[in-house]
Amino acid sequence: MVLSIQREAPLKPKKDGSPILIAGPCGVESKAQVMETAMALGKYPVDILRGGVWKPRTRPDAFEGVGGKGLAWLKRAGEAVGLPVATEVATPNHVEMCLSHEIDVLWIGARTAANPFSVQAIADALQGADVAVMVKNPVSPDIGLWIGAFERLNKAGIKKLAAIHRGFSVGGGGGLRNQPVWRIPIELKRRVPKIPLVCDPSHICGSRKLIKRVAQEAYDLMFDGLMIESHINPDVALSDSAQQLSPDAYGKLIASLEPKRELVDDADFQKELSVLREKIDHIDDKLVHLLGERMRIVEEIGERKKRSKASVFQPSRWEEILENRVEHGKTESLSADFITKVYQLVHEEAVRHQEK
Ligand code: PEP
Ligand code: MN
Repeated sequence: MVLSIQREAPLKPKKDGSPILIAGPCGVESKAQVMETAMALGKYPVDILRGGVWKPRTRPDAFEGVGGKGLAWLKRAGEAVGLPVATEVATPNHVEMCLSHEIDVLWIGARTAANPFSVQAIADALQGADVAVMVKNPVSPDIGLWIGAFERLNKAGIKKLAAIHRGFSVGGGGGLRNQPVWRIPIELKRRVPKIPLVCDPSHICGSRKLIKRVAQEAYDLMFDGLMIESHINPDVALSDSAQQLSPDAYGKLIASLEPKRELVDDADFQKELSVLREKIDHIDDKLVHLLGERMRIVEEIGERKKRSKASVFQPSRWEEILENRVEHGKTESLSADFITKVYQLVHEEAVRHQEK
């Protein structure tokens, strides 16, 4: 189905290209905590005040949020600084309570977004409501599930939608809590160009010190906004303490980031870019041709192996290729990780060609 998206305040990307900024604590903990955080954040650019009152925790016995009573505290804190407020919903009951407290924006969390039954139950509870809804990416990198959530909401009449990219539980390194797998949000934007796309570097990083790099990367990739967790006293936060920024650190972060534009109407820029792109096109032509040539030789090898009843997969040869190409890659300033990934794909394809 074709999604119908209304880009409306507070989830409307701004004309000057500056990003939508959502900030606030991971969890609403007390009336004072959310009010003090909001007041301190109010000195800096913020468009929406966030705060979870129901916290989906991986293990029981962790702080699970203050529950429905926190909605009034959040709403009051937003009103005190003139900001719309956002919170997470996971059940129809959460939706009803948020609507009765006039919460401006709801979001569906990553764990809930992974479960179509839950998303449908939320969509049913939202039927006909005039509220904005953001959907976090499901924990696994499954774009179909993510788009399916928007479709369920759309069918319930919700058109003020936005997507939040908070990374995926796919293992992997870089010291990150969740891997960004940027190709997924980029593909979402290609398929649903009108959807405002917000990056949540806090949950991608899991740690304060990495947030700036990931936030700038999101700007470089043309995201429409950021959601950043900020707590008046991060060290004593009851959830996600390591990744929350103090309001002053948040202000500093936002000032240090550089939003980017596509620059489609700058003729000089476009001219220089097209010269460089022609070079890239030429290299890619050669690359694709070489890959084809490589596969043709692979097929010859496959025939030969078949005649001698040798196995398609030869572990020692694979080991040798990987080692040698990673070494070569180093002399071209290409990371071992990148070369390994490329050759894993090439090798998988080569095995397929020999099985023909
Ligand atoms: C949150 O935003 O506080 C949260 C729980 O996020 P996620 O669903 O991305 O884990
Ligand atoms: Mn959190």
